[in-house]
Amino acid sequence: MDASIFEKYQPVIGLEVHAQLSTNSKIFASDVNEFGELPNTNISVITLGHPGTLPKVNKKAVEFAVRMGMACGCTINQNSFFDRKNYFYPDLPKGYQTTQDKAPICIGGSITIKTSEGEKLIRLNRIHLEDDAGKNLHLDGEVDTLVDYNRAGTPLIEIVTEPDIRSSEEAYALLAEIRKLVRYLDICDGNMEEGSLRCDANVSVMLKDAKEYGKKVEVKNMNSLRNVQRAIDFEIERQIGEIEKGNTIYSETRQFDTVHFTTHGMRTKEELNDYRYFPEPDLQPMRLSDAVLEKIKSEMPALPQALFKKFVQQYGLPEYDANVLIDVKEMALYFEEVCNHTQNYKAAANWMTGPIKSYLNELTMSMDQLSLPPASLADLIALVESNKVSFAMANQKILPALIESNGNTKALQIAESLNLIQTSDSNAIEPIVMEVLAKFPDKVKEYKGGKTGVLQMFMGEVMKATKGKADPKVTTSILKEKLEA
Ligand code: ADP
Ligand code: MG
Repeated sequence: MDASIFEKYQPVIGLEVHAQLSTNSKIFASDVNEFGELPNTNISVITLGHPGTLPKVNKKAVEFAVRMGMACGCTINQNSFFDRKNYFYPDLPKGYQTTQDKAPICIGGSITIKTSEGEKLIRLNRIHLEDDAGKNLHLDGEVDTLVDYNRAGTPLIEIVTEPDIRSSEEAYALLAEIRKLVRYLDICDGNMEEGSLRCDANVSVMLKDAKEYGKKVEVKNMNSLRNVQRAIDFEIERQIGEIEKGNTIYSETRQFDTVHFTTHGMRTKEELNDYRYFPEPDLQPMRLSDAVLEKIKSEMPALPQALFKKFVQQYGLPEYDANVLIDVKEMALYFEEVCNHTQNYKAAANWMTGPIKSYLNELTMSMDQLSLPPASLADLIALVESNKVSFAMANQKILPALIESNGNTKALQIAESLNLIQTSDSNAIEPIVMEVLAKFPDKVKEYKGGKTGVLQMFMGEVMKATKGKADPKVTTSILKEKLEA
């Protein structure tokens, strides 16, 4: 589409994000809340909604929802209650979803995202609790639809934003931030592929000078951050195309096609069920006392933004480093631990974002699988900083050996046994420098003629001759001294 046409329009986006809470049991019953079990094994008569059974609210699920609300600065509703949302679908054994319509547990609040133009606040409308449905299975070669009810009754929070998002990049950033938050809060594993975190995107477009938002379309079925962005991009372009052709946009629900990256209509909102919401008669309204909220607040884990501030202000890290470190919770917490054993914060950050990250990437390991005590890494950092070993040797040889030993062998011991202790003794380095210079008289001439870049080549030769054990700083200064003599 012509860019000038695109430029006339302003996209408006609001997200509805569902996060499965990682409680041990379901939201209203004691059946196990676990992904990937054999179909229809984690179910109970309560979850299936058999007559005569009564639900009971899982306190942990309530606590997790409050945690998210507190992290987003929401008003915590101390008098919330559940409603029934009635509709028929085979994966919904009760015939209704137990959700919160009129009185959600968290109201308002916001999440700050980082965009290319700086920070932006996205307001939340609410966060409410509800139960997940089961899952219809359409298996290859099977004519019938099968139903697995294991997922039914899984606790969910639904985070509903205000329509404050203006581009697919902002939507991506917001969802990434939500994923980071739920992981820091330890309330959801944030895995979009497994459906622990799901996102519906409401998308509309309007002329830039319009006073009112356009009609919105809700897009479902995106299973990754990238696909959320793709679905929104496709939808923006489709809607602009329709309007340009003189067509009207209808409020409808559209399905994202994960193969072709397009969307197609599922149902129009106009023909949507009347859900006949009414207060859930089988559950008491939830009264959250001040004491309960105080307790949850006092047990809140460290949040990424607080750690970012600490890393920049207290440890003096550049914002870039701090951002990389807080991106993964385990990374940030590990770094903090390392900093309890070293004063060299910048070096510690470099080790985390460089060698440690590369090591994990290479072996496709995650941070929590790293068996290296933070104090051992701090030891290794100290060895490098005191010029006892070169960074290159510490990275290539000592780090893997240190991890291999689970930190049981000291970095210094490993360095000694691998014969990697560096010489900073100029009396030992000088003769080697002289040898190298004698071997390359042409290069010496080049240097003297102004091509000072050949210094690197001399360095390399000295390192080769000493098997990497010459202290680079001392070597450089001897090399310069001899070459400039
Ligand atoms: P509905 O009544 O269809 O459920 P809501 O007003 O409850 O609509 O909003 C649902 C979601 O749609 C929210 O995330 C909200 O931010 C978003 N939304 C509302 N209006 C628009 C719009 N015109 N364009 C894009 N998103 C919108
Ligand atoms: Mg709504």
